[in-house]
Amino acid sequence: YAKEKGKNNYQLFTDELKKKVNQRLKLESALRKAIDKEELELYYQPQFDIKSRDIVSAEALLRWNSSFGRISPNEFIPIAEDTGLIVSIGKWVFKEACLHIKEWRKRGLPVVPISVNVSARQFREADFAKVVQQIVKEEKIDPSQLIIEITESAMLDIVESEHIIQDLKELGIKIAIDDFGKGYSSLQIITDLNYDILKIDKSLMDIEKGNRNIAILKAVLETTKGYKEVIVEGIETQEQVDFLKTYNVVGQGFFFSHPLPSHQFEEQLKQIRG
Ligand code: C2E
Ligand code: MG
Ligand code: MG
Ligand code: MG
Repeated sequence: YAKEKGKNNYQLFTDELKKKVNQRLKLESALRKAIDKEELELYYQPQFDIKSRDIVSAEALLRWNSSFGRISPNEFIPIAEDTGLIVSIGKWVFKEACLHIKEWRKRGLPVVPISVNVSARQFREADFAKVVQQIVKEEKIDPSQLIIEITESAMLDIVESEHIIQDLKELGIKIAIDDFGKGYSSLQIITDLNYDILKIDKSLMDIEKGNRNIAILKAVLETTKGYKEVIVEGIETQEQVDFLKTYNVVGQGFFFSHPLPSHQFEEQLKQIRG
């Protein structure tokens, strides 16, 4: 009987696995066509000065309106990474953000710096900085309008990463370290790397849940004070805002605004005092 049951479990396991593999293959092949089918869209989430409540910048966030419905970047970005599709998707994202900036400028709007996410594989492409430079040049974008976000985990090799960061900074583009404090972050990154903005991950914003987070958060805010820009991600409550009020930081989160389609973000830009 036990043997029989084991066999059934095995059967169940392979069925599950087959289903997962099939699902994955389906997504992969759909993602391959996503650019041509114009299924990709950039949303923008404004980032606010905690004290003045002014919009100071915004993050571009990719959306995929697939034939299976809306699929989260947390699901499709890893597929794009594994398959190498991230290289062409990443180019599309960068160019699209530049086109939006151009459009908003043309309409006379006060355009804040726009932050673009770049993933590990893209960041490590040999010609990454060149590609960025080319797009910026082609679209005649002021590079100081752009910020590139990279996660610590994308920087496997710190020395090599420093070179890439240096190249981008020479173009006049700012660098943000994304998701700081998610998983195992090293405090060394804060002081050793040549970046502009430190983005603190939402997991550290869980201040209700404990002293450990508050201690880390305070340590990071004290270390960066007056010397690096800090953006705190995932702000959802008034309590979190109150906690941050004594620090000179920028806040991003559902409390202030969800990521918005470009035409709605444009309305936000119109509210900015000139
Ligand atoms: P991320 O770069 O850390 O982006 C912030 C994520 O937090 C976004 O999720 C945003 O919608 C979400 N968020 C913002 N405020 C709050 C809040 O108050 N509470 C909570 N719970 N979440 C909040 P999203 O848009 O689903 O993107 C997920 C991740 O996918 C991003 O994390 C980024 O790593 C990746 N991603 C998104 N767009 C791109 C892209 O164009 N290129 C690349 N390479 N990765 C991207
Ligand atoms: Mg980001
Ligand atoms: Mg983040
Ligand atoms: Mg992330």
